[in-house]
Amino acid sequence: PAAPPGGTVVVTGAARGIGRAIAELYVERGHTVLSVDLNLPPALRGQARVKADVGTAAGRERILRAARELGKVDVLVNNAAFQDAPGGVLEVSERGWSRTLVVNLTAPLMLTRILIDLIPRGGAVVNVASVQGLFAEQGNAAYNASKGGLVNLTRAAALDLAPRGIRVNAVAPGAIATEAVLGAIASSENPEQTRRDYEDLHALRRLGEPREVAQTVYFLGSAEASFLTGAIVPVDGGMTASFMMAGRPV
Ligand code: NAD
Repeated sequence: PAAPPGGTVVVTGAARGIGRAIAELYVERGHTVLSVDLNLPPALRGQARVKADVGTAAGRERILRAARELGKVDVLVNNAAFQDAPGGVLEVSERGWSRTLVVNLTAPLMLTRILIDLIPRGGAVVNVASVQGLFAEQGNAAYNASKGGLVNLTRAAALDLAPRGIRVNAVAPGAIATEAVLGAIASSENPEQTRRDYEDLHALRRLGEPREVAQTVYFLGSAEASFLTGAIVPVDGGMTASFMMAGRPV
């Protein structure tokens, strides 16, 4: 048996983008949701929310207190990420590198640990990694390293939490049509071309929708996925199916 229908779910980074879509899907399907974000997340049909930085011990304490009030955590979704330390290995600032690793890698570890006694047998952790945790993008060293770390932390946690009956899996999204990605496209020199370039990275020749990532997260956290643990599921429209990355005919 895995997380029961109507169970309680904690989603980090739930104020916008993929995290918000995840929180909305769980609410829609009758779950109790605690939305966590640096910015106060929207109140989804009166569900619980907390403003907290997952990258600090104090922030995680706040999350623990809010989760205790809900009684248990059937599914923890580690979705929050810091994506603002650009640069290759020769450029990235040490500060940006550190913050990236703290938010994207240390926080999922420590949040899993601090909440562990609230996660029942049959519960699940779902980490939101990235295709950039499977392969690297030029000039994005910190993010690549953090997501690569999260991919293997997912496997380590799957092994270490299996005796407790807790499953741990991850999704690895391709380019998803979030506010951030659409904003980057819109502010580029040639938005139409940039959008096509993004689309052509995927075999399906389009961007993914936040809800499509949410649906896979939901599945991984549910009883339907009761024999999946330590799995990294690409939600990438076939991007990583091609060794040429683009899947683009030449
Ligand atoms: P986003 O920037 O739109 O939203 C991230 C949310 O997390 C924001 O609301 C932000 O305030 C919150 N957040 C950031 N740092 C936090 C912290 N320290 N504590 C609490 N909340 C924090 O991002 P998104 O595009 O929706 O991405 C969500 C997840 O999906 C991330 O893990 C990202 O790496 C991953 N991802 C996104 C894409 C994409 O194309 N959008 C692709 C692959 C992976």
